[in-house]
Amino acid sequence: MELTCGSASAAQLILLNGDTGTGIGLDDATPKAPQGLNPGTTLGEQRRIVYQFAMDMWGAVLQSDVPIKVAASFQPLTCTPTQAVLGSAGGNWIDRDFPNAPLAGLWYNSALADSLAGSDLDPVVGDPADIVSRFNGDLGKPNCLAGFDWYYGLDGKTPANSINFLNVVTHEIGHGLGFQGTISKTTGAFGDFDGTGPRSDAYTQNAFDNVVNLGFNDPAMTSAQRALAMRTPGRLVWTGGHVTTEAALVLDRRQMFTVSAPAAIAGNYLFGTATFGALPTPANFNGTVVLGIDPSDTAGASTTDACSPLSNASAVAGHIVLVDRGTCGFIVKALNVQNAGGTAMVVADNQPGSPPADLGGVDPAITIPAIRITLDAGNTFKANLPVTAGFVVSPTLLQGADDSGHVRLYAPPVVASGSTFSHYDTVLTPNAIMEPFDTPTEQAQVNIDLTPALLRDTGWRINTGNAIINNCNTTVDVVADGGLVFGANVQSWNDICSTTTSGKSAYTQCMDAYKTRALASGILVGNQGGKVLACAAKRK
Ligand SMILES: [Zn+2]
Repeated sequence: MELTCGSASAAQLILLNGDTGTGIGLDDATPKAPQGLNPGTTLGEQRRIVYQFAMDMWGAVLQSDVPIKVAASFQPLTCTPTQAVLGSAGGNWIDRDFPNAPLAGLWYNSALADSLAGSDLDPVVGDPADIVSRFNGDLGKPNCLAGFDWYYGLDGKTPANSINFLNVVTHEIGHGLGFQGTISKTTGAFGDFDGTGPRSDAYTQNAFDNVVNLGFNDPAMTSAQRALAMRTPGRLVWTGGHVTTEAALVLDRRQMFTVSAPAAIAGNYLFGTATFGALPTPANFNGTVVLGIDPSDTAGASTTDACSPLSNASAVAGHIVLVDRGTCGFIVKALNVQNAGGTAMVVADNQPGSPPADLGGVDPAITIPAIRITLDAGNTFKANLPVTAGFVVSPTLLQGADDSGHVRLYAPPVVASGSTFSHYDTVLTPNAIMEPFDTPTEQAQVNIDLTPALLRDTGWRINTGNAIINNCNTTVDVVADGGLVFGANVQSWNDICSTTTSGKSAYTQCMDAYKTRALASGILVGNQGGKVLACAAKRK
């Protein structure tokens, strides 16, 4: 039921199955036991169920009177034994200056343009899909992230060595809905897509360089400045109001590395984190900083490189240990610090530059936290030892946003053509669905964090109402500020129960089981379980 005249209703996403008839991908008939609440009995069916789940969820969240056509297929994508492109997707075509276009001269992806225009603007010739998505059909083969496999469960309980297909599908459709810019990632130039001259787009208009304080569409900003911002971590941020407002609901407060004594050098210092060991916290990373000393030997000539076992264990035990970058790997240094009794490691860079990159390497034996600071900061510390330092939680600043509260976009120093600019930064905590790398902690079935807010900033209308099933109001918010999509989850499960059962009795049993699970996991609270079942009972 429409509440106000002229308001758009929930969107419908329609699958254009590119694998139909091929026997592979979404059409793979290989028998498969139901997994993680996914009732499908073949590989292809489980994949289609996950895909439909994601489309139902996006359809519930977004408003559009025009169906969104999503092409999907499994294909060979870039692979190595240790890395794989999991999926790729994007809008299939763009449009500008259509009826009701909010801003003149800007490009909009077709799904959004259709929604805003209220009619299907499809080109007369060519592929009618609004979104084209591809998924890696080779995942887990010896040459493609060997030992990994897709997980087709709908419960968010991704096992080790698995990639959650729902997270990836949700992410890829997010790109196709407009979480992408058309700008050149290398030159920063706007594209000329119709021979009328370079133009920006609805995504890029929200990008901002927080060093020169210019928006990407500001006429004063040059292509070279945009390119520099896109390869400078921390400098590229999103200034759209919905993301900025909702960030405080989603992101943790920022942890800062702070020196408290001596007073002359007190303050916050930039740092990079490590891919090994514990994450730094106020509890595990605070106290006195002392210099780690090791012999000058074949492992490393410097006596502060920590490439050999430390010779001043009695001085470093129980303290934060400062060592220099160079000669040996970070995990070698960390193990030597840990074995000497150090509680945490600070690596001073050995070359100038800022901000400090992360410390790479993996070793499960390392349990202490480690960070890297700049060469300048390292020299300052060494001239003032002993230094009292540690991590503190900011009362106001957010992890993943700049000091003005604008959320960071992905801007690695080396441009990654498929990732730079069109993702949130990897520094967001907790991780966001639209970061460039999937993490098993993500729970796309109930939480798409700051993605709806970003789409709103590009011009999408979001469904602010309750989940409706069988024309009945379940009272569950489809999507709440901060991106919890509990009501969308209800609608997705109603679709699964409708399409994978036959007869009202089996459907009701499926919804009853859903209610029990959803109450236990907090997706439904209070009498919402009863409301969902009352709505389920209205099925004809
Ligand atoms: Zn992506």
